[in-house]
Amino acid sequence: MNDHIFRFHHEGIDGAVIRVLEDEILSVNEFLSEDHQQGDTDEYAFAYTSCYLNVYGRHVLIDAGFDPDTVPGALESIDVLPEDINWVLLTHADRDHVGGLLMGNGSLTYPNAQHVIGKALWEDLSNPETLAALSDERSPFFRRLVAALDGRLQLCDEEEAVTEDITFLLSSGHRLGHAVYEIKTQGTPLVHTGDSYFHPLFIESPAWINRVDSLPDVGSNSRQRLTERLAQTAACVLGSHLPFPGIGTILRDGSDYRWVSRTEHERPIS
Ligand SMILES: [Zn+2]
Repeated sequence: MNDHIFRFHHEGIDGAVIRVLEDEILSVNEFLSEDHQQGDTDEYAFAYTSCYLNVYGRHVLIDAGFDPDTVPGALESIDVLPEDINWVLLTHADRDHVGGLLMGNGSLTYPNAQHVIGKALWEDLSNPETLAALSDERSPFFRRLVAALDGRLQLCDEEEAVTEDITFLLSSGHRLGHAVYEIKTQGTPLVHTGDSYFHPLFIESPAWINRVDSLPDVGSNSRQRLTERLAQTAACVLGSHLPFPGIGTILRDGSDYRWVSRTEHERPIS
C-alpha cells in the first residue's frame, strides 16, 4: 500500500488523505505555553496532508499541499485528474496548504475548480501592503497566486453554505480568517479542521494556547467552540497535521474530550 495516500469511507462519502510532505518529528512542547509543557514522551510525527473527497460525484480538494506535483500524483492513483476537481476549499494560505495551487508556469493546477477561501484572509493577503511586506523568498509566489485566483474565488465569512452539502465555518486564530469545512453526509458530518489542532492534546484541552498561532487567544476561543460542535455532532474529524492519517472522532465525557483516532479500530481501504 502507498503510505502517502490513505483512502477512507464515511457515511456515503469516499475520501483520501494525501501526505504532501514527509512527517516531521517534533516536540509538542514547541507549541505549548510554559504552564502546559509535557514530560519526556512528547515527541511525535507531525504530518502534512491534503484531503480529497468525492461528495456525491463532485470532486473536492481541501488544501493543495506544498507543490503542484504531489497531490495530482496521488489523485492519479485513484483515477482523478486535476481537470476533474470541481472545488478547492482552502483552510488558510500557508505555503504547505496553497503551494500546490500553481504550476511552474503560474497557471492554476486545478483549472476548472471554484476556489473557496475566507474573506478576511483573502482581503489581507491580496492587500498591496501585505504583498509588499512579504520576504523576497515568499513574495513572487504570493503575487502570482493573487493574480491567478483573481475572479476565480468564492469568498466566505462566518458560517456560509458553499454548496448544498458543504459549509464554510470561520475558525480564525491559527491565521486571520482560517476556515474549517463541514460536509453533509448520510450520517454524521465530516469536518476538515485544517490547522486547528497541531496535536491531539489540543483536542483534549482546546483552551490551551498554540504558541505558533498568529492570534493565539482568538485561536483558543475558536478551538473551544469547534471542539464542542465536533463532539456534539459526533463528526468524522480530519486535521492537516494530526498524526497520519489524522482521522478520528471526539468523545465527550462530562467536561472532558477524548480523541479517538479512526485507525485504532479500522483498517484503511487498500
Ligand atoms: Zn499547516
